[in-house]
Amino acid sequence: MAKLTGIDIYKLLPKTNCGDCQVPTCMAFAMQVAAKKAALEKCPHVSEQAKQALAESAEPPMRTVTIGTGPRALQIGGETVLFRHEEKFHRATGVALRVSDAEDVAKVAQTALGLHFIRAGKEVRVDLIALEQTQDAGTFAAKAAEIARNCDLPIVLVSSDPSALGLALQGLSGKRPLICGANSQNYAELAALAKSNNAPLAVQADSLDSLATLTGEIKKLGVSDLVLAPKTETPRDTLTKLTQLRRLALEKNFRALGFPVMVFTQPGDPFQETSQAITYVCKYAQIVVMAGREPWQVLPVLTARFNIFTDPQVPNAVEAKLYRVGDPGRDAPVIVTTNFALTYFTVEGEVENSKVPAYIAVVETNGLGVLNSYADDKLSGETIAAAVKKCGALDQVSHKKLVIPGLVAVLKGELEDESGCEVVVGPEEAAGLPGFLKNDWKRLAAAL
Ligand code: SF4
Repeated sequence: MAKLTGIDIYKLLPKTNCGDCQVPTCMAFAMQVAAKKAALEKCPHVSEQAKQALAESAEPPMRTVTIGTGPRALQIGGETVLFRHEEKFHRATGVALRVSDAEDVAKVAQTALGLHFIRAGKEVRVDLIALEQTQDAGTFAAKAAEIARNCDLPIVLVSSDPSALGLALQGLSGKRPLICGANSQNYAELAALAKSNNAPLAVQADSLDSLATLTGEIKKLGVSDLVLAPKTETPRDTLTKLTQLRRLALEKNFRALGFPVMVFTQPGDPFQETSQAITYVCKYAQIVVMAGREPWQVLPVLTARFNIFTDPQVPNAVEAKLYRVGDPGRDAPVIVTTNFALTYFTVEGEVENSKVPAYIAVVETNGLGVLNSYADDKLSGETIAAAVKKCGALDQVSHKKLVIPGLVAVLKGELEDESGCEVVVGPEEAAGLPGFLKNDWKRLAAAL
């Protein structure tokens, strides 16, 4: 249902203009409700039918669904925009590792737990394990319990067999796994399992029409925490359906498809699989289930997710202050950089690689990188000199030398005038820092 206008709301009111809502007319009250300046409850004469219609219109266009419990619980959905620049994407895509119940699932669980990396100072990691049934119900249930014993990641139970799912759910009591999936044959039984286990339910169908019909039927059975899992043939088909589902939910406010979407990559060429997963993260999957488990396959997906799900309105920045890398002494270099998180952590990483202890003086540039902040006058001789003075970098060392990024070599003279320091032009790229520190700085330090 599309968002209701004042006229739509007026049509649902008694139209008696009695004034009991403290507003002179029903039309004026309807306008206030549409503008969210008055609550419908203020009209004591409104019918149950009107209340229900208005409650539906107030629901978000895409439901938020929680999978798992505790600190690792994953929330997906609740998105409000098609494009990140319109506002932001709210909940990052969950990345799931796919495992069959014929495998050593304890080993895969440990692998999943080990797939965590630091990206721009923040941890990125795999979120879920999707267990697929290929064996009998007892084996499937035993493997689900084994995963739960070996790791605290939420679980997706992939099977169409209600008895196998029921058995597995017994061993996952209170863990709120995602049940995948309901189809036109089994949806009533799976809805009963989802309801009695307080678990979300993924709905599978070939067409979007069938998906919409199924979600409607399942909602009537009292299960609303649904995830859409459209069946697809090719990556192109998957991308098309993901885009159609997002548009139908957000642009058309089509409630029957207003749920987060889960997709599976097609195993085969591992490079292609990673490429598929990244594509689906960008548009518009809320869970991507992938078979690849090698760090080189998973890290690009987590990195793409990290980049897409940052808030474009909030600078990705670190605190502007003096940082130490290693145990710098009085002859350690003072390296100047900006507070764009990616720049800072790249510089920090390369200094660590060099094994040369150093100070990094970070200038407040509102999260802009070196060239952007120079172009915006946030990185200048004046701002660097002020930042170095404020963070007390020169109090820590016995020299008056500052290393600036090679990309802003043009600031050398201005900074020397502003700071009274000798300015050493460092490499243009952070990757050049290890060589610079081990060779150029070593020679300079020897002469101190
Ligand atoms: S209380 Fe209800 S019926 Fe009376 S004026 Fe207000 S909106 Fe209309």
